[in-house]
This record gives sequence, C-alpha cells and structure tokens, in this order.
Amino acid sequence: MNGIKHLIQCHCILPQYKNAKDPVFHKFTVFSVIDDSDTVITKYSNCNNCGAVHKVYDICKSEIVSGKEDSKTSLKREDFKFSLPQSLYELLNQYEKELCDFEYSQFVVDNKKWDSTLTLTREELEEHVQGKLLRFIEEDKFRIESYTHKVGI
Ligand SMILES: [Zn+2]
Repeated sequence: MNGIKHLIQCHCILPQYKNAKDPVFHKFTVFSVIDDSDTVITKYSNCNNCGAVHKVYDICKSEIVSGKEDSKTSLKREDFKFSLPQSLYELLNQYEKELCDFEYSQFVVDNKKWDSTLTLTREELEEHVQGKLLRFIEEDKFRIESYTHKVGI
C-alpha cells in the first residue's frame, strides 16, 4: 500500500484570478491511498476554497458531486488530534499544514513507513530552494531537518 498527495482541479476561481483573461481554476491537494494492485482508492474530499465535494477516483482526477457542500462526514484537521501522536499533531498545526498533510502523516504512522518526509516550509532564494522538512524516524520519533538545493532539481 502506498499514499500519495496530488492536485485536484475545482470549478471555482480564487478572487485574485477573477479578472484573468483565461480562467485559472483553483487546484487543491488531496491525499489518496493506492492499494497493492495499483488502484487508487476512491474517496471524497472538500475543496478548500468553495467547499464543493469531489469524488476523487484517480491521481489528479475527480468529479464534483453536485448539490453537496461542506459534507459533515469528511475529516477535519481537528479530528486527527485523537489519532496522531500529540507532538506530531501540534507540530503540523504549528506549521499550519493542510488536511492532506495530516492524512499523509497518519498514513505514514499507521503503516510504519519510516524515513518518509513531509515538507514543512519552502522558500526560493535566488537559484536555491531552502526549507524545513519533517522526517518520520520511528514510532513517536520525528526530526526536523533543513534542506537546500538548486532550483530545478
Ligand atoms: Zn472549489
């Protein structure tokens, strides 16, 4: 089993793109699980801008479930307070990570995918990118590391 974060396109447009010549549709990141036969497990996710419910059935592919907004059954970040190690939950909140990052972290911990990493911050400085990442070492053990690499690598 594997987990992946990928981008889904919505039908909404962020306010700053409202007057753009070509419509720039909003994209948001979701987390999906891929089973051992390489099939993406279908899930429902809310758009983080307009709240529309998307049926996510493949990587970067979804269809909007019409008439449903802000479904009460979908997970919220606060729900992970009860299932993630407390220090990890606090760390993700501190860095204001998105729901998909909480789902990803939960997946890593549940499936013991140690040595996985999650980008916490990212900043472009001239020709370099630098930032911080979280490394999952083992049960209840995490480390924050800094990284720097050249843009385009
Ligand atoms: Zn939307």
